[in-house]
Amino acid sequence: MQSLLGKPVVDALTAELEVLLADFVRASGRRPRLAVILVGDDPASHLYVTNKRKSADRLGIDHELHLFAAKATPVEVRTKVDELNQRLDVDGILIQRPLPAGFNLQEVSCWIEPSKDVDGFHPELVGKLALGIPALTPCTPTGIMALLEHYKIPVAGKLCCVVGRSPIVGKPLAAMLLNANATVVQCHRGTAQLAEITSRADVLFVAAGVARLVGREHVRPGAVVIDVGIHKLVDGSLTGDVRADELRDHAAALTPVPGGVGPLTIFMLMSNVVQAAHARLDTTRRSSVRKA
Ligand code: NAD
Repeated sequence: MQSLLGKPVVDALTAELEVLLADFVRASGRRPRLAVILVGDDPASHLYVTNKRKSADRLGIDHELHLFAAKATPVEVRTKVDELNQRLDVDGILIQRPLPAGFNLQEVSCWIEPSKDVDGFHPELVGKLALGIPALTPCTPTGIMALLEHYKIPVAGKLCCVVGRSPIVGKPLAAMLLNANATVVQCHRGTAQLAEITSRADVLFVAAGVARLVGREHVRPGAVVIDVGIHKLVDGSLTGDVRADELRDHAAALTPVPGGVGPLTIFMLMSNVVQAAHARLDTTRRSSVRKA
């Protein structure tokens, strides 16, 4: 069974991103800038934000962090987002999830200006993805599509099964696969006889958020399996949504946890910041041509 590591994909794509980034710096005279909003003191969220900032530093992307106490109100956070939406030097904004109770996620998804929404969650961006119109797209499924391309795993004409329908992973991933001409089946919490459906798939994507949910009985012999889940066990080790040990002589390929999909998510966030910066530069150029 081939282990589909994320790092070689990130390494290959970093070279391309660096060229795009250097282009932007040359044309604008500044570096792209990401603004991160973090509400509350969830240790995992703080760790994710630290990792994003380290990745930005490595690539040469400026960043700023806006910290709010867990008791901050949606109005206070919204006011900051409005200010960041207006700032000309901010290219990308993200609001780290989960947010404390009291924040309505559907409302929050509309706060960030679509052109700066580097998580790709704004309903306008979701609509564009559904219609196949190029725009910023959610980082994890974008990373998964890049991983498939890197390892030359075709999806066009293949039966692709996605377990999970969250707005962050499952739904956008199914839309991307459909846009790439796959035949897509989507399973979720309400799916009866999960194994019967998943075991028909050529490529199986598991984003259920349930540790070791999927095993040998769910996977067709020779299938490719993409494990999106990540869970910390009591002994401190990490596991995915897939029982990797059961697939060793069964699946053709599997993404390991950790080290599979994970590294691509942060990379795609950086890629979205650079893309957002470029797109805004192009808009500024077009409007100055109109004024001239
Ligand atoms: P979520 O909890 O928002 O959604 C889970 C989805 O799985 C739901 O749509 C639910 O209907 C479905 N589901 C739950 N139990 C199921 C079952 N028994 N059978 C079939 N479907 C079931 O989770 P999410 O945000 O989409 O994340 C999924 C997993 O991926 C989590 O483990 C998360 O930590 C991980 N994740 C990893 C990355 C990464 O970069 N590696 C990024 C995002 C999420």
